[in-house]
Amino acid sequence: MTELAAPPTGRSADVARISHWIGGRTVAGGSGRSGPVYNPATGEQTGAVDFGTVEEVDAAVNAAREAFPAWRATSLAKRAELMFRIRELVHERREEVARILTAEHGKVLSDAMGEVTRGLEVIEFACGIPHLLKGGMSEQASAGVDVYSIRQPLGVVAGITPFNFPAMVPMWMWAPALACGNTFVLKPSEKDPSASIWVAELLQEAGVPDGVFNVVHGDKVAVDAILEHGGIAAVSFVGSTPIARYIYETGTKNGKRVQALGGAKNHMIVLPDADIDMAADAAVSAAYGSAGERCMAISQVVAVGDAADSLVAAIKERLPKIKVGNGLQPDVEMGPLVTREHRDKVAGYIDGAREQGATVVADGRETAPDGDGFFLGVSLLDDVTPEMDAYRDEIFGPVLGVTRVSTYDEAVRLVNENPYGNGTAIFTRDGGVARQFQFEVEAGMVGINVPIPVPVAYYSFGGWKSSLFGDTHIYGPEGINFYTRGKVVTSRWPDPATSKVDLGFPQTR
Ligand code: NAD
Repeated sequence: MTELAAPPTGRSADVARISHWIGGRTVAGGSGRSGPVYNPATGEQTGAVDFGTVEEVDAAVNAAREAFPAWRATSLAKRAELMFRIRELVHERREEVARILTAEHGKVLSDAMGEVTRGLEVIEFACGIPHLLKGGMSEQASAGVDVYSIRQPLGVVAGITPFNFPAMVPMWMWAPALACGNTFVLKPSEKDPSASIWVAELLQEAGVPDGVFNVVHGDKVAVDAILEHGGIAAVSFVGSTPIARYIYETGTKNGKRVQALGGAKNHMIVLPDADIDMAADAAVSAAYGSAGERCMAISQVVAVGDAADSLVAAIKERLPKIKVGNGLQPDVEMGPLVTREHRDKVAGYIDGAREQGATVVADGRETAPDGDGFFLGVSLLDDVTPEMDAYRDEIFGPVLGVTRVSTYDEAVRLVNENPYGNGTAIFTRDGGVARQFQFEVEAGMVGINVPIPVPVAYYSFGGWKSSLFGDTHIYGPEGINFYTRGKVVTSRWPDPATSKVDLGFPQTR
């Protein structure tokens, strides 16, 4: 980050300018366009992020393209050693980046630390790259013929990431991509861009050669330049469904390999035999953690039969204990939303739901802390039905809806009829029903008495239906496949016994 004498859109001289990182150094943007970065807990603008141009994307791709031959030729041992070094540095300095996350995203510091930990797990997985890239071999496929497979990097690959996990989601991409031998261009969210520059500097300190990792900030202009650039082989995207669909369609039209993860509306089914206290604790942490700004947040509880009254009462009882405030304060459990506009949009769903017939059990506007921060307290809506906007839309805020149904079949039908299919969970003591749910539910990640079933780093993460465009999930084994392409070699060598070639040493046969 460099200080600007006169910030382009800032309100005070304290506004920091956040610039691109190309070829191992900070590059100030030349477009004259920038976006404001806020501290959501105070409402103050703290940064102005440069918005990249087509030429700046081109410069980043060129830097990555130049770095590629040497990087892909770097031995597996050396690349693994670098991944271990990166792992150590991120681990040692995780609080530093967590503080950046809290300052620009708003999530509480403990949650920001958790984000870095989950990202670190993907870096740790990538440390095993020599093992992960092992191919297969068939000796004597035909007389004197061996066949073997290898996986090779794609070249320059790009990542386009959302605001809600500004460190972890890029790690899902660059860690496996770099370990596989690709070079990388990241276009992070313009709302909280500083973590990506922190990572760029850390990778340089770890010894990653200049040009292997580049950052271009920006909006649709930079994204479109990535999607249309002939020098980029693949694009990983995580964000909302309409943009994911656009990225997938445009990227594939331009001949790129694309994985585009979209939005979600994650349902948690609670059966009458469930442990209601356990289910209520799970619903509260999964709905309101990170102010509901998680793609795996539970936003809709489906309470079956008798579970409903006791569950709503148990959730309601827990709400006053959730302390909302500045995420840097140690006792605070929920921070602000990312922007004022987003907070107001989320709050609008409360009135909308009431007008459409839902029961507002808790209205987060009444419990939001005072001040200029983008705060909203926790909200609970009961009697939500599938026609309501609060049910249909991904609210992406601290608003939990409860839908009451009579049977397990009705509950599963709701999940399966939903256009999204990211995560889902069931709470029950009945193993047979849980197994049936796992068998028939249409979602990519399923929790059984686990509300946020984010797969560990050695599995892959991804939803179904409108939560994922493309066929490859992210990180884990599917991430390695995404960032490499297969090659099969068929070889035959002259038999030394019959060969007329003088080998220069005696034959033993
Ligand atoms: P977003 O779709 O608005 O933005 C994501 C990225 O796309 C950003 O880098 C942004 O600059 C860019 N972008 C935005 N509008 C664009 C446009 N018109 N053209 C081209 N690029 C554009 O998403 P967000 O608000 O940053 O993040 C929240 C969303 O991400 C939620 O829907 C959430 O569910 C989703 N998400 C999904 C996952 C997952 O794994 N499925 C994970 C995290 C977040």
